[in-house]
Amino acid sequence: MSQPAPPPLTRLVPEHVRRFTAYVPSPPDEELKRLYRIDQLHRLNNNENPLGPPPAAVAALAGMAPAQHALYPSGDGFFLRRRLAELHGVEPAQVLIGNGANEVIAFVIKAFCQPGDAIVTADRTFAVYEWVAEFSGIEARLVPLRDHEFDDAAMLAAARADDRSKILFLCNPNNPTGTWWDGARLARFLDAVAGRQVVVVDEAYAEFVDDPAFPDAVALMRRHPNLVVFRTFSKMWGLAGLRIGYMIGAPEMTDIVRRTAVVYSVGGAAQIAALAAAGDQAHRAATNALMDEARRHVAAEMRGLGLPVLANAGNFLMVRLPMSDTIAHRRLLAQGVMVRAMTGFRYPNHLRLSLSHPAAMEAFCRAMHGLVKR
Ligand SMILES: *Cc1c(COP(=O)(O)O)cnc(C)c1O
Repeated sequence: MSQPAPPPLTRLVPEHVRRFTAYVPSPPDEELKRLYRIDQLHRLNNNENPLGPPPAAVAALAGMAPAQHALYPSGDGFFLRRRLAELHGVEPAQVLIGNGANEVIAFVIKAFCQPGDAIVTADRTFAVYEWVAEFSGIEARLVPLRDHEFDDAAMLAAARADDRSKILFLCNPNNPTGTWWDGARLARFLDAVAGRQVVVVDEAYAEFVDDPAFPDAVALMRRHPNLVVFRTFSKMWGLAGLRIGYMIGAPEMTDIVRRTAVVYSVGGAAQIAALAAAGDQAHRAATNALMDEARRHVAAEMRGLGLPVLANAGNFLMVRLPMSDTIAHRRLLAQGVMVRAMTGFRYPNHLRLSLSHPAAMEAFCRAMHGLVKR
């Protein structure tokens, strides 16, 4: 006897999920090398640390007995939170870890927003705030950057348009422009918000800034319990593959966000490596010296080719191309150099390059020369 055809699965899917297109990650290196018939690939698309994790983290990982992987880790990063609290001058209860800062973004949105609410951020910034909002039925209000910077006045206006906006996301320094607000500007912004919304400051690239004018977010938190700060072990600390990030908030803030945090989402190896890596200033100095050298070299080379460069804070820079970034991306890949095509970030005809070792920077400059001068 034949069964009637089942009704389509899509009828179970909320409209905001149906509308959303899934992000397609880049293929693994081996696959790309096969596709593009290349022997070597410089992966300069994800802002990873070319020096890897600090030596103490490498040793901590090597020292793990395989049997440890049979055990669940600390569900809330007990020892790591204690260490991070000490480094930032807060209480352990103010720190919440996640499976990358990406997961912490989802925790905060889930804690404060329901379908019909809104978040406010920039149009050209890290896209995960916008994506998590949209596939959750939450409107993402995207305020245009002004001179490549987050526009305080326009963000406040977007937040005040009605009473639906719950969270303002500031990426500081901004990925991909590298621009940042100083402490005074962030303090003025928080005064103007006056606790009406949550303010998230994503400091994924904070460790790449040495300027004393960079905000002391923890100090601001004492006066502004609506402030949340994100950090990650993926960029400066070279642990992107282990997926670990964290947030710091006032005790009442962290109590709220913890309700939506999935326990055991951060593995034991990630916790052990992060504990060893946290606050390693020698590693930070070595990384920043390498970044400064690469930034100077690439910026000069690109300007020599007549290409405008946006090189501010962070371990990356942007180049404006005289052609489509999608085509440039493919041609650079064929030369063994993988960068980020920026149309998806609303920067058509731009690419973002992760700063790295001299050999990788040389390969990029050579490939760009071939691209522009033919
Ligand atoms: C890379 C990045 C993150 C995410 O980091 P994970 O901890 O790897 O999830 C968050 N914010 C910005 C701005 C980033 O560039």
